[in-house]
Amino acid sequence: MSESTWGFETRAIHVGQEPDEATGAITVPIHLATTFVQPAPGQHRGYEYSRTSNPTRAALERAVAGLEGAAHGFAFASGMAAEDALVGLLHPGDHVVLGSDAYGGTFRLIAGIYGERGIEWSAVDLTDAGALAGALRPETRQVWMETPTNPMLAVADVGAVADAAHAVGATVVVDNTFATPYLQNPLALGADVAVHSSTKYLGGHSDVLGGFVAVNEDELAERLAFVQNAAGAVPSPFDCYLLLRGIKTLGVRMDRHCNNARAVAEFLDGHPAVDRVLYPGLPDHPGHGVAARQMRDFGGMVSFILRGGEAAAVAAVCSTKVFLLAESLGAVESLIEQPATMTHLSVADSPLAVDPGLIRLSVGIETIDDLLADLDQALS
Ligand SMILES: *Cc1c(COP(=O)(O)O)cnc(C)c1O
Repeated sequence: MSESTWGFETRAIHVGQEPDEATGAITVPIHLATTFVQPAPGQHRGYEYSRTSNPTRAALERAVAGLEGAAHGFAFASGMAAEDALVGLLHPGDHVVLGSDAYGGTFRLIAGIYGERGIEWSAVDLTDAGALAGALRPETRQVWMETPTNPMLAVADVGAVADAAHAVGATVVVDNTFATPYLQNPLALGADVAVHSSTKYLGGHSDVLGGFVAVNEDELAERLAFVQNAAGAVPSPFDCYLLLRGIKTLGVRMDRHCNNARAVAEFLDGHPAVDRVLYPGLPDHPGHGVAARQMRDFGGMVSFILRGGEAAAVAAVCSTKVFLLAESLGAVESLIEQPATMTHLSVADSPLAVDPGLIRLSVGIETIDDLLADLDQALS
């Protein structure tokens, strides 16, 4: 028996989380110490200062890297801090391609901060191979993709995008927040980097912010370790503990998220008030075939457009009782939101603007009959 042959759920509970050597404690201790004693100057037992490395964070880094099948993992204070560590590797004149419905914060980081410092960018539909080929340039250094995307739930082929990007020497970064490592492993599909907002499904309980970067390549890992320590956007030991606690149940939570989301998507698909349902698990979704190939199941996010447009959408999101009206996603409780005025407000006047009639659901793990009854009363 070794870690490399363990199944996902076993890795989620045991990798990086061996009983504490000093005490036998079953759970990883929260090591709050900021500094560690040295037997002689410059000698240490693996830890010297907590920004550089911390035992609780090291456990989390081994655990999530194990779930992504990655050689190296780096934990950050938020998903955006993780993304910033990657985009910050670029130099003026470098070019980035990102998906045309990228997470709004990713767009804001690349266009709003790095765009001002000489990084060029293009936003394209990454489900369209021709559009991607047209956007790639010799100076393209990174291609940022999400699949499924937020909030349109479009599905792009990770292997195909990676092949095209690698042909011009670009690094492929997959934001794997929506799928989680339980449903999709970007590195195994051909990408170079998997990045996460651990705030969402990895934490899973709406009580901790975090970000994560997983890579295989040693040289890239060295640069990321340098940035993590030099810039210092690291999570606290307590946050690392909450994330370790969350990922132990990631597999069972995702199974329920997926089953509930599938039932919600099918219910909405047959509802007279609904114009269109966006869920990759529905057989008529344009990305269904690719999703079935590269994902283990179709995830917990469902978007839809009502026949009544924006007014109907605002009325519906204000009428649910079990689904709570809030931003964010990926936790045990079900959430509903209107992206145009909430999560996607920052992209309102950009190429990434979304339909104000769109509603996004993060389907939680409550009793499915209660979720369906809640949506039914809100739509009638
Ligand atoms: C939330 C989110 C982020 C940003 O993560 P934070 O933890 O909020 O900083 C990035 N990408 C996706 C897809 C997200 O949902």
